[in-house]
Amino acid sequence: TSIANGKANSVNNIPTIKFTKLFINGDFVDSVSGKRFETIDPRSGEVIAQISKGGKEDIDIAVKAARQAFDLGPWPRLPGSERAKILMKWADLIDENAEVAAALDAIDAGKLYHMCKNVEVPAAANTLRYYAGAADKIHGQVLKMSREFHGYTLMEPVGVVGHIIPWNFPTTMFFIKVSPSLAAGCTMVLKPAEQTPLSALFYAHLAKLAGIPDGVLNVVPGFGPIAGAAVSSHMDIDAVSFTGSTKTGREIMQAAAKSNLKQVSLELGGKSPLIIFDDADIDKAAELALIGILYNKGEVCVASSRVFVQEGIYDEFEKKLVEKAKAWIVGDPFDPISQQGPQVDKKQFEKVLSYIEHGKREGATLLTGGKTLGNRGYYIEPTIFSDIKDDMLIAQDEIFGPVMALKKFKTIEEAIKSANNTKYGLAAGIVTKNLDTANTVSRSIRAGTVWINCYFAFGDDIPFGGYKMSGFGKDHGMEALHKYFQVKSVVTPI
Ligand code: NAD
Repeated sequence: TSIANGKANSVNNIPTIKFTKLFINGDFVDSVSGKRFETIDPRSGEVIAQISKGGKEDIDIAVKAARQAFDLGPWPRLPGSERAKILMKWADLIDENAEVAAALDAIDAGKLYHMCKNVEVPAAANTLRYYAGAADKIHGQVLKMSREFHGYTLMEPVGVVGHIIPWNFPTTMFFIKVSPSLAAGCTMVLKPAEQTPLSALFYAHLAKLAGIPDGVLNVVPGFGPIAGAAVSSHMDIDAVSFTGSTKTGREIMQAAAKSNLKQVSLELGGKSPLIIFDDADIDKAAELALIGILYNKGEVCVASSRVFVQEGIYDEFEKKLVEKAKAWIVGDPFDPISQQGPQVDKKQFEKVLSYIEHGKREGATLLTGGKTLGNRGYYIEPTIFSDIKDDMLIAQDEIFGPVMALKKFKTIEEAIKSANNTKYGLAAGIVTKNLDTANTVSRSIRAGTVWINCYFAFGDDIPFGGYKMSGFGKDHGMEALHKYFQVKSVVTPI
């Protein structure tokens, strides 16, 4: 029994793991090498299952299947409404199987089971429905060019797409990539993160049941530098859509440049600021800041990892924040009272702990937390540092754990300067009742999303993506659908 801080109990409703092989051309198959890798339960460090380990040869086979399905198969040729029907059916199957899907993410990634079941899995089904609804509403234009010619544009699916996704939101990431690209008529190879292959394979099984033709969706688990690199450098993949770290994003772009100049879209890391002004409701702002950093144990690209609070309310805010952090329940992700599960794996656990040590060494004040919890698994206390200077490592690096850097500020100019003092530009939050302040700050922050008096508010229809070294290209919204089309211009004499 892993009861991290004594408040939440371990619950043993682990699902049976049925799908452990690569999903290629509509079948579950062993890897060419026959090799397997272990996927680990972060509650205990124990092995959950042995997964077929995709390598370069397996990616080649999957790309051939996807190419064949694109060049000769029905999928790109179906009317959008026919593709939509199948995607809608898949969405219903996901809803019907939400408990299994949620349990797979909870055990593989240490995510809260109840959040997966009630929020993330149903939202993923809705993402599919959103793009299914758009599949028959894509059209080009007729253009009057000159006296002699006129033309029209065709929206053609880009071809075979490679998707490479991270481990922090295995379900959400899977569906924000495959839904628009499938609706567009593309075929694809998806490589899930090596830490979290289980739900992706389960969704592939449901896709087959829904009637997605063989070869259209291939799921090949494997390691980044081998299977991931085989995707980004493949000569027959037309576009790669990646979510993960800035370091890997750079490698993917280089691989694309050195191979066939495939289109690249990158959703990368963040170090998002949340700026709280004197006129804020202190209790609500403290709650927002805490959830902003602790949701999904801080393993969130848009986590509010830097919190700036104006001096008039700073002391009271700090007191409330620490009280709330101490009451936060860290424990088994299957217990409904848990608010935070274990970090995804040993490597991530150790990385977060080393940043906490670094924060202490570089002179930040540890207000609360900083320690591990329980005697097994990868649980870490909610951790808050104050007295932050902008150039400290814990204020610059993406920690990807439950660690907040808190800083006091005087003026709006000072807050904007600190908020922009980062190589990242993924998201930001502002808490104020003053419309002028909200407008000034939201226009001054170089980030792809700005939340005013809220945080983590996502929607299928609102584009999401980074500025600066947080990447380029959008997920969500019609922008994401357009990534998977290329525009052909056809010209005729009048
Ligand atoms: P990572 O970049 O190491 O891994 C992400 C994926 O890339 C995995 O599937 C991995 O196998 C693959 N990969 C690794 N090396 C590769 C290579 N050389 N070539 C091709 N593929 C490779 O990232 P991580 O540390 O596992 O994930 C956390 C990171 O993801 C954080 O930096 C976080 O900010 C970022 N993230 C960003 C978003 C976003 O939407 N912007 C969302 C979630 C996570």
